Amino acid sequence: MIKCIGKSVLNGIAVGRVYVYRSGKFAPVKKQIEDVDKEQERLMQAIAKAGEQLEELYQNALKTVGEEQAMIFDVHKMMLEDEGYQADIKAMISEGCNAEFAVQETGDKYSAMFAAMDDEYMRARSADVIDISGRVIDILSGVGQTNIDSREPVILLAEDLTPSETIQMDKSKIYAFVTVHGSASSHTAILARSMNLPSIVNTDVELLDKYHGKMAVVDGYNGEFIIDPDEDILNDMLAKREKWLKETEELKKLIGQENVTRDGRRVNVYCNIGNVEDVDRVLKADGGGIGLFRSEFLYLGKDDYPSEEEQFESYKTVLEKMKGKKVIIRTLDIGADKKADYFNLEPEENPAMGYRAIRICLDRPEVFKTQLRAIYRASAFGTASIMFPMIISVEEIRKIKEIVEEVKKELTSENIAMGEVELGIMIETPAAAVISDELAKEVEFFSIGTNDLTQYTLAIDRQNQKLEKVCDLHHKAVLKLIQMTVENGHRENIWVGICGELASDTSLTQTFVDMGVDELSVSPTYVLGLRKAIREI
Ligand code: PEP
Ligand code: MG
Repeated sequence: MIKCIGKSVLNGIAVGRVYVYRSGKFAPVKKQIEDVDKEQERLMQAIAKAGEQLEELYQNALKTVGEEQAMIFDVHKMMLEDEGYQADIKAMISEGCNAEFAVQETGDKYSAMFAAMDDEYMRARSADVIDISGRVIDILSGVGQTNIDSREPVILLAEDLTPSETIQMDKSKIYAFVTVHGSASSHTAILARSMNLPSIVNTDVELLDKYHGKMAVVDGYNGEFIIDPDEDILNDMLAKREKWLKETEELKKLIGQENVTRDGRRVNVYCNIGNVEDVDRVLKADGGGIGLFRSEFLYLGKDDYPSEEEQFESYKTVLEKMKGKKVIIRTLDIGADKKADYFNLEPEENPAMGYRAIRICLDRPEVFKTQLRAIYRASAFGTASIMFPMIISVEEIRKIKEIVEEVKKELTSENIAMGEVELGIMIETPAAAVISDELAKEVEFFSIGTNDLTQYTLAIDRQNQKLEKVCDLHHKAVLKLIQMTVENGHRENIWVGICGELASDTSLTQTFVDMGVDELSVSPTYVLGLRKAIREI
């Protein structure tokens, strides 16, 4: 039995088998192999599997984004099947080189060849050949596959997970995440919470292959990960799990009840989501609306920008499913830990304080306008609001409003129906909180992002697991900024909510109600617990 301690991101108990997940960029090392035929066979199997994956991606893309976007996977498949490419890899293997290294070398050679061509289309194939080679290497080395190869759901053990890897995983295959690194306020932890997975980060465990397939338990109450538990512990955990499930069942009695304190103060309890599928969890949890749709998750785990049509379909589906309840779509907050290769964001010394969110959108208006067009088109199908992240000035809001007006004008001239859309901003920088009196004159609501507001106020990187010990989430400075924001918002008659993780901290519910917070937006997992806390005030 091995007991490891980490930082819990969600209460709850998971019992299941360990799945060792190795991600990340892996540079194959050259090795001398003995059995050339066996290595050639291994290569051909990996190529066949890569072909199957590409076919599946092509078929999925056909259904979700249409033929034009899906073509890329067809091109990849053709390149994978190229005789010259395969012959060069096989020639290296014949000389005793391991398949991983042979694929890497050949991929690099072809990529350089494409990059040197005059034709723009051919030059663009340089990245594709790297991509297909990477896929084959991942299969050969058994790493980086976000599709979990197991019939039963598993406890996924990883070094760390990026938000884009997490978003691509099949949630029905996962009981819990355990990561060696990571912090509880990272976006990966937020995703685990929204998936209702009792997970642990920053765990003192090694990523060893021998753990793969072993029985284990995750105790999200104590941040414990126990591999190979003895019978007593396993029985204890199963009993604890029963109790947790019973409590969750008990909370369901609050479905349909109001979020109202004993003295009659009503608070809206909305939900945070990252994708269309999350809406079912919102409805099941009886969330009153969507207080934060992290739209950037539509951009992650992809090879290219989601088209206007694709985004429109996603927003429309969410709005329709919410049947007139408010849906607040936050515009793209890419950058910092949320990266997509096709944005070509340069490495930065200090990404959290760098090129991120609204800064990128105002700098690349074509990307911003595509998203705004999709949201405004979808707004005809429900009650949509838009909020903008990482605001620090009145000037930014004015610029945003100009772009919004351009988009609305375009759509009107195209005779496209639109609904009334409320415009708000996130208060997640100390600058925004301090000038919230001025900002309140410009918008219709504020939503306080306590995750970033805490990081920037305390100068504590939310990704840095070493600083969790000194990161006081109830720091007076943050609470004062929240109070100030609520007061300034109310002075201008706009509503003020909280959509950062602090909104679900029931030890602060009374404080937030006393401050006059109008809305708390939390992961669907927390809705009923929060309702209970409000009703007990
Ligand atoms: C926040 O910063 O509190 C927030 C809700 O946004 P995100 O966590 O996505 O940065
Ligand atoms: Mg934020």
